[in-house]
Parts: sequence; structure tokens; C-alpha cells
Amino acid sequence: MTQTAAARTKTRRTLRLTAVGLVVVTAAIIGTLVYQSAWSSAPSFSEVLRGDHGGTTTEADGALPDGVTVFDDQYPGVTNLDPDLLGALRDAATDAADDGIEFYVNSGWRSPEYEEQLRREAVAKYGSEKEAARWVATANTSPHVSGDAVDIGPSDATAWLSEHGAEYGLCQIYRNEPWHYELRPEASINGCPPMYADPTQDPRLQ
Ligand SMILES: [Zn+2]
Repeated sequence: MTQTAAARTKTRRTLRLTAVGLVVVTAAIIGTLVYQSAWSSAPSFSEVLRGDHGGTTTEADGALPDGVTVFDDQYPGVTNLDPDLLGALRDAATDAADDGIEFYVNSGWRSPEYEEQLRREAVAKYGSEKEAARWVATANTSPHVSGDAVDIGPSDATAWLSEHGAEYGLCQIYRNEPWHYELRPEASINGCPPMYADPTQDPRLQ
């Protein structure tokens, strides 16, 4: 290799390394942007539920460990649900099991103290009372505190409910919460009522 050829090779190698470096940096920037936008556009309330509650609330307040089903008879979060709601959930879950789908209860009945704690954590997570109100009601108004609402998972269970839930009177209430179900007995005849965009649109929570 002549000296000129060696210099050309070196230049090419430098250029290639620079190009690789640019690709890596660009990918990192895009990755960060995608991550940030995913984070801000789809904040997960389940992270609030699954968060560390500082040991102040217990299962007696309705907190539930992972993997609790609608058939559980051990946890107040399930057993304190309205009996008609729980009955409808168990009927639906029995039929869904034929399709290989299991309903887990991420949250059901909550004590007023637990609801208020979740609200405070949501305010911390979402940055304002206004934004938190799109996800958590107050202890005075929450249908979870009265035992009339349940948060179901995983997504194949909520997909099953969104297709078949009305037959059991089980309706999604808020468009932004595909996991939140309440009993609307008339839904088996008339279908579910139109959804509210989010809890701030719900007159019960005003
Ligand atoms: Zn809910």
C-alpha cells in the first residue's frame, strides 16, 4: 500500500467511525424522545396502584397483592364489592375461562383512607390535582369506596369484557380507563351507556 493509499484508507475509516458515532447518538436521542412521549402520553395508573404505599395501607384497606382473581374470598378489596357486581364478575369470569382468559382484580373496594392515599400519590405522579382527577376520585365520591367499581386486568380480560361485558351488565365507564368496570344491570338489554371521556366528566364525581 502506498502512503497515499494508506492515508485514504485511514480517512475512510475515520469517516465510517464518525458515521457510526452519529447513528448511535441519533438513535439515543430518538430513543429518549420516544421514551419521554410514551411516558407523558400514557401514564399508567397501575403504577400508582402497584407503588409503595409506605406501609400505611394494608389489605384491610383494600390493597391487593398481584394475582388476586374475582373468585378470591380472602381479601376485603374483593369481598367488600357490591354483591351484584361481584356476582356478575364471577359469571363473566366463568364464561371467559372457557376462552382461556382469567380476570385479575388490580383494585376493587378501597377504604376512604386508601383512596385518599392513591389520590395523593397520583397528584405527585401526574404533577397536579387537575391531572390526577382524570385518574383518581376523592374518598367522598369514588365508586371504589362504595364497592361499586373494579379495575380488571390483564388486557386480554378487559378486551373480553369490552366485547361481552354488557351481557352481564358489566360496563366500561371511562374512555381513558379500559380496566375500570361497574355494574349497569340494564346493559344486558340496552347495551352499555355512552362512556365519559374520563372521571372529570362524570357528574357523580363533581
Ligand atoms: Zn377504577
